[in-house]
Amino acid sequence: MNLQPEHLLAPERLAPDIIVIGSGPGGAVTATRCAEAGKSVLMIEEGPHLALESAPHFSREEILQKYRNAGINIGFGATKIAYVEGCCVGGGSEINRGLYHRTPQAVLDRWRRDYRVDALTLEELTPHFDACEAVARVEYLPGPAPQLSTRLDEGAQRLGWSSLEVPRLFAYAAAGAGGSPGRKQSMSATFVPRFLDAGGMLCSVLDRDGVRAAMRDVDVVHHNAALVAQTDAGRDYWNVNVEGTRIVCEEAARAGVRSLIHVSSTAAYGIPPSGPITATTPLRPVEPYGKSKRAGEEVAEAICTAADMTLITIRPRATLGGGRLGIFQILFEWISENRAVYVIGSGNIKFQFVHAHDLMDFYMLALKAGRSGTYNVGTDSFGTLRHDLEALIRYAGSTSKVRSLPTAATINTLRALHWLRVSPLVPWHYLTYHKECYFDVEPLLAMGWRPKYSNEAMLQESYDWYRQSAKLASAVTAKSPHRAPLKQGALWLLKMIS
Ligand SMILES: Cc1cc2nc3c(=O)[nH]c(=O)nc-3n(C[C@H](O)[C@H](O)[C@H](O)COP(=O)(O)OP(=O)(O)OC[C@H]3O[C@@H](n4cnc5c(N)ncnc54)[C@H](O)[C@@H]3O)c2cc1C
Repeated sequence: MNLQPEHLLAPERLAPDIIVIGSGPGGAVTATRCAEAGKSVLMIEEGPHLALESAPHFSREEILQKYRNAGINIGFGATKIAYVEGCCVGGGSEINRGLYHRTPQAVLDRWRRDYRVDALTLEELTPHFDACEAVARVEYLPGPAPQLSTRLDEGAQRLGWSSLEVPRLFAYAAAGAGGSPGRKQSMSATFVPRFLDAGGMLCSVLDRDGVRAAMRDVDVVHHNAALVAQTDAGRDYWNVNVEGTRIVCEEAARAGVRSLIHVSSTAAYGIPPSGPITATTPLRPVEPYGKSKRAGEEVAEAICTAADMTLITIRPRATLGGGRLGIFQILFEWISENRAVYVIGSGNIKFQFVHAHDLMDFYMLALKAGRSGTYNVGTDSFGTLRHDLEALIRYAGSTSKVRSLPTAATINTLRALHWLRVSPLVPWHYLTYHKECYFDVEPLLAMGWRPKYSNEAMLQESYDWYRQSAKLASAVTAKSPHRAPLKQGALWLLKMIS
């Protein structure tokens, strides 16, 4: 979500000097040059770190492993455009052809004029082209072209068109005995190893060596990496949410980290009881996500206690604010289209959310207090689910109505749809949406925390962001399950009759 300056640690307290987001050619080259210049650099990549050879090039496996959304992206607008994009360490360089041209003179001239960068001349850029080409091994085919290319060349010549071989970022000389074709010079094959050799940081929470390197000289760790409920991740919930947490805590302890904030979940409680959830409410998670979050808490408690490290465990209510979509996108879309929105049961249940900025305020407060503890964080200003939805509908100027669905029949139907994998609602949603769910936040208010957003205000802000981003169509490719729109699956049918 979008953060405010007061939610950030002072720059001198941040471990890396530089953070680079994205590890494609743009990110990897920048990060490597900075790391090699002696800066401490963290490169953040949302996709997996896989070997170039992890799947045959242009194969189905490669598309599933390395393409964003398995290759299905659409840019909405007056004209809809389908496109593909890499989503892995190395970005597009892992999946592209590696065809290479120097930027042509005419393009440089246009950039120099339009962007007023005087240095964009061929003379100024030639040493940089030379340097990049040396690293990335821009090479022509060492032998005859493959049959398809030859046919294209022949066809072009017959039509009187010009045809030329485009060199590639490809180390043909690496072609070994036994007919190996050589190696494409993707980022994972070139700059990323150089970045790591220069001490750069890039790793998953499951990569112990990388996590260990990232903990060096750190005094506060904010552990927020998790597979969230709607990823429906099955066994991977356990790997990331429990084993990943174990690795983070063990390496933090080894590095002598002072405080660790572990972001857990309301799902650790299981089916919420009636009345407020307090410090004494039993923890009885009922579905795989909640079980993994609770187990992650236990792992963190054991390790941090043994290491005498301050552990701040946070269980936030569903978090809203600019940038949030995920499951809320369905609600916002239906309201903006004047369709009925549904609650399971009467909807006359107290239901609390928390705004991302208030949550961050609390992290900072708890950090300052410097005491271990578990904190349930939600706004202190909320109504019933039905009341807050109706307020949002009024705010949106929509004619939607809040309709009740029968509890048992709806849960059974959603369970069956989930089992058939045609509904975006996972057990954590359909088993708890009809239950009152709110935290007693008196202990947090007593610490001096003052949430600024009510349920109504944060729903409105998130709705405005949804409307704005729908206009820009920018949310379409977001990868975080909390920021990306959800596929509605079988709920689409319900929407059509609403
Ligand atoms: C199929 C295909 C074939 C192509 N063929 C060629 C070719 O032959 N020659 C050529 O010159 N170009 C080709 N291209 C284009 C080329 O690959 C791209 O221009 C290049 O990869 C862009 O580099 P980039 O670093 O700007 O972005 P990308 O390579 O797209 O890298 C961006 C990276 O950032 C990550 N990321 C995005 N948002 C976040 C976030 N919020 N947090 C963390 N990580 C994030 C993404 O997962 C991705 O890995 C091709 C592209 C494709 C898809």
